[in-house]
Amino acid sequence: TLILALESTCDETAAAVIDGELNVLSSVVATQEELHERFGGVVPEIASRAHIERILPVIDTALSDAGVTLEQLDAVAVANQPGLAGSLLVGLMAAKSLCLALDKPLIAIDHLQAHVYACRMAAGKDVFPCVGMIVSGGHSSLYHCHSPLEFETLGGTIDDAAGEAFDKVASMLGLGFPGGPALQRTAEQGDAKRFRLPRPLLADKDRLEFSFSGLKTAVRYELFGPANPVDSEQLDPQLIADMAASVQQAIIDCLIGKALLAMKRTNLTRLCVGGGVAANGPFRDQLEQATEQNAYELHLAPRSLCTDNAAMGAIAVERFNAGLFETLDLEISPGLRRPGK
Ligand code: ATP
Ligand code: MG
Ligand code: FE
Repeated sequence: TLILALESTCDETAAAVIDGELNVLSSVVATQEELHERFGGVVPEIASRAHIERILPVIDTALSDAGVTLEQLDAVAVANQPGLAGSLLVGLMAAKSLCLALDKPLIAIDHLQAHVYACRMAAGKDVFPCVGMIVSGGHSSLYHCHSPLEFETLGGTIDDAAGEAFDKVASMLGLGFPGGPALQRTAEQGDAKRFRLPRPLLADKDRLEFSFSGLKTAVRYELFGPANPVDSEQLDPQLIADMAASVQQAIIDCLIGKALLAMKRTNLTRLCVGGGVAANGPFRDQLEQATEQNAYELHLAPRSLCTDNAAMGAIAVERFNAGLFETLDLEISPGLRRPGK
């Protein structure tokens, strides 16, 4: 089996060729970070335009890297949910066009299920049922994953996502966009105990929810008081590093606390974690320790499969094997799901 998978849910244009044994024959990611950087966030209109320009070259490269021709494909798969509407449409239209022209079956990919499936790919064996955790730019969500394609929402964020918190605080500290990796790097020189920041909802053992928007406000007041607008250039480098370390630790504490709560609630013993924030080094280390102490089996998505990519579209193999194909009427489904965002 040879499947071409496309990914254009946000600001990465990506294509990958995967075989029936989940081998990734090629994986191409064209990131748009440089286009959105000066706006401090992803601008939807710019993202969809950039997808249009990049999708065909990205597909060509993925096919040639894999040494596979269009005719050899058994199906074309595309992430049609969730994400930015204009971005999702580009991938979907490309996939439909290929299927129509080549007379190949079309497969739908749920981007969030794909983030968790990255753990299955790395494990090299079945990891379901499990608690699935997605910590990314748009989501901080916990699921009871009955199978790769059957997710039951346990909880999510009531405001910002974890990655969004990293990005917004990083921007306040003058660290650029996307802020997650920069904040992690800066935090290495910092003292995580210097600032006492809140751990919203962490102590509430009845709620499997996250809240990160208050953290952002707490940082702002700690650094700038009521001043407006804020000016990161007046901040001392050591203060920036200490704040980066303090915020990172506050986010990690919340994420790990609720992940453990989800394990307890479901009585499951396996935890699979994916999404961009799962690339964070201290998060990975501390989660490994915490799960080991509780004798849970942890599967972290490999770093290369944490941020958006099409290789995790290998989840399409599950649908292919189950005969779950779509007609050319397939639509996008951008929707934020609340709760479970
Ligand atoms: P979603 O999957 O919810 O639709 P998305 O696809 O935009 O959102 P991803 O590409 O999975 O999100 O992740 C991007 C996020 O991950 C950004 O917010 C980025 O700052 C964050 N991130 C990436 N690397 C790190 C890191 N090392 N530490 C912390 N955050 C990180
Ligand atoms: Mg991105
Ligand atoms: Fe994503």
